[in-house]
Amino acid sequence: MTDQPRVEIYTKGNCSHCDRVKDLFESKGVDYEEYNVSENDERFEEMVERADGRKTAPEVFIDDEHVGGWDDTHELDETGELDELLGITDDEVVEHRTLIIAGTGIAGLTAAIYAGRANNEPLIIEGDEPGGQLTLTTDVANYPGFPEGIGGPELVNRMKEQATQFGAELKNGIIESVNDSSRPFRVELRNGDVYTADAVIAASGASARTLGIPGEDELMGYGLSTCATCDGAFFRDEDMLVVGGGDAAMEEATFLTKFADTVYIAHRREEFRAEDYWVDRVHEKVEEGEIEIMKNTELIELHGSQEDGVDHVTLVENDAGHPTDRLDDPETEEFDFDVGAVFFAIGHTPNTDYLEDTGVQLDDEGYLETKGGDGGGQTETHVPGLFGAGDVVDFHYQQAVTAAGMGSKAALDADEYLEDLERADSSAEEAEAAAADD
Ligand SMILES: Cc1cc2nc3c(=O)[nH]c(=O)nc-3n(C[C@H](O)[C@H](O)[C@H](O)COP(=O)(O)OP(=O)(O)OC[C@H]3O[C@@H](n4cnc5c(N)ncnc54)[C@H](O)[C@@H]3O)c2cc1C
Repeated sequence: MTDQPRVEIYTKGNCSHCDRVKDLFESKGVDYEEYNVSENDERFEEMVERADGRKTAPEVFIDDEHVGGWDDTHELDETGELDELLGITDDEVVEHRTLIIAGTGIAGLTAAIYAGRANNEPLIIEGDEPGGQLTLTTDVANYPGFPEGIGGPELVNRMKEQATQFGAELKNGIIESVNDSSRPFRVELRNGDVYTADAVIAASGASARTLGIPGEDELMGYGLSTCATCDGAFFRDEDMLVVGGGDAAMEEATFLTKFADTVYIAHRREEFRAEDYWVDRVHEKVEEGEIEIMKNTELIELHGSQEDGVDHVTLVENDAGHPTDRLDDPETEEFDFDVGAVFFAIGHTPNTDYLEDTGVQLDDEGYLETKGGDGGGQTETHVPGLFGAGDVVDFHYQQAVTAAGMGSKAALDADEYLEDLERADSSAEEAEAAAADD
């Protein structure tokens, strides 16, 4: 590329968002300078100064202008503004594909491995979380075949390599809509690119939830995070608050003890939802004085500034649980609490917006409904040719190995559908040719 603007990226070690932002520029053929701030205090200070006080990596600059972190860069890419900043012009792409897979999490990548081997040449659209949720964890100890455990990003990268080896193609982008009113499907990306596809597998997972409380928008990325493994190291020796009571909250709290002075867990009920394994690990840390649990407690406000990060938070507590439902109760105590960083770990929302105009059925929370049951066709949705796999369907198990299992089923179901389609097409062609001969 000629006349390319200067792209600078501040990164740190073991940072999945940093890998994503680099992959994005590489996929556009754009050169960049990388400054790793891990173990380099001068670079870190420089990054914080240039990024107006932001202490999270990556931070991206184009021609000295601050673009922001992964989320900001990705959003600009989706609106096409990033290409404008980079001087890339591209007209609407219309290409036909046999199979499009939404999502490069464990479900989408497993589907791609199977579909690639079945010669269906899948195109996988990465979405706003390339590699999916597993890229947010450093330690996957329960994925079969790795007795020593494996890092989430490494597992995902190996799967990507395996999928591309069998002919799958990965593309940055978010699917905005799927049109099922005629065949082939019309799949439109947020940046305006359009594809047609004979079959589609929805493996779009679920996104981290936030609370919608005062201070949240202002401080997200400035001391508030939904990814402890990405940002925990930036708040070394601070007191940290983890909000949530499920597996992710327990794992993140345990992980943060590596950096925090003390980790506090605020959970709105008395009992944790997490597996006993994680609750036991947290209790070990409580005994060691590294974690303190605040039960029946909810976060209602974050205080601080983008310059100085989180200063303190406001919490409410009521022994009966769910204190925000009891704000008028005299037993509800409201108090300020000093912490230097806050991590949300409060569950996920299924990513199904792009399917809303199709004939698929979604449950009350937006999870995609599939046929399920025994025998073939378990991943079929109510739209023939559109299949569902992984956490976007499975609100109950939500594990890497179950997502992989569903991904393989979706690819096998899609292959059967595509073969039927091909047979039907060739019978129609034969009938047409016979009619022409008569
Ligand atoms: C912190 C953490 C730790 C975990 N640890 C473990 C563990 O140790 N073991 C385990 O078994 N499980 C673990 N899990 C759960 C596991 O990560 C998930 O069950 C699994 O990743 C689900 O895979 P998936 O492919 O269904 O969805 P996801 O991993 O959520 O991937 C969804 C994909 O869809 C893409 N997408 C979304 N919307 C669109 C769109 N509109 N267009 C295109 N693409 C889209 C996203 O960008 C993403 O690539 C953990 C989860 C978290 C958050």
